[in-house]
Amino acid sequence: MVNIRREICPADKWDIKCPNKMTPTRIVIHNTANDAPAKNEISYMNSNKNEVSFHFAVDDTETVQGIELDRNAWHAGDGNGKGNREGIAIEICYSKSGGEKWLKAVENAAELTAKLLDERGWGTDRVTKHQDYSGKHCPHRILDEYGWDKFLDLVKSKMKKASAVKPAAPSAPAAKKISVIYQVWDDVKNCWLPEVTDLTDYAGLYGHDVCAVYARLTSGNIFYKVHYKGGVWLPEVKNREDYAGLFNKPIDGLMMRTDTGKTVKYAVHLRISDRWLPFVSGYDADDFDNGYAGIIGQEIDGVKIYIE
Ligand SMILES: [Zn+2]
Repeated sequence: MVNIRREICPADKWDIKCPNKMTPTRIVIHNTANDAPAKNEISYMNSNKNEVSFHFAVDDTETVQGIELDRNAWHAGDGNGKGNREGIAIEICYSKSGGEKWLKAVENAAELTAKLLDERGWGTDRVTKHQDYSGKHCPHRILDEYGWDKFLDLVKSKMKKASAVKPAAPSAPAAKKISVIYQVWDDVKNCWLPEVTDLTDYAGLYGHDVCAVYARLTSGNIFYKVHYKGGVWLPEVKNREDYAGLFNKPIDGLMMRTDTGKTVKYAVHLRISDRWLPFVSGYDADDFDNGYAGIIGQEIDGVKIYIE
């Protein structure tokens, strides 16, 4: 969990920085457009006399809070509109130059956002951007490079399971496309990586062993199980009723099936030999060609799935 350090604005500045009581209804995401760490962003805010303020600054190592969450801040450029008067402002640091520290700051900001949502029983529909209120191109590096939807997916992946998983979509007509949404547990980062839909991306990070898999469909059921390295095929799981795998045991085999009448196609990337194996569609531990994805004994660091 990201460490949250409080450096609350001195009371004699409140009439400038946070004059109004506030009941938050949303979160407003910003990028600092700067290369300063969180502590500098907050100390600068607390020391100057500008009507500019925000609740949190997040960098690669910590979150610093400068304004109490029941006070408003001036950040959204909408005067006394909902952004400034009802929004919890999160500034993500190091957006000017980007790079590793920036990406870690994004990760930490997503974790903070997920925590704030979970505490309030909110969904990701409460997460908004500065741009929504004043048209300013902010959070600029998320809009230009990282992707807003990907950021929301990252937040979702860090939320508690119950609130992160939306109820299954109502069953669709047979002709309608079914998507598979999936994610994997990363044994290096020790967390669930963001959800992926169909072939828009792969789930995993090259070089990091996959230890567990989660999958669900937009309609119908998916069943799957994994084999862990040096071990056995673990029990089959259905949708997100459970995950398949054991934390900290790399998997070396994956098999999937669906009851939708369509075919689930899946492929894995091998970590050591650094290559994708062909897509398979079967569900049989004895069928080395098409019964499962993977080569027993070889760790997997990427998974791709789609429904045909
Ligand atoms: Zn902004």
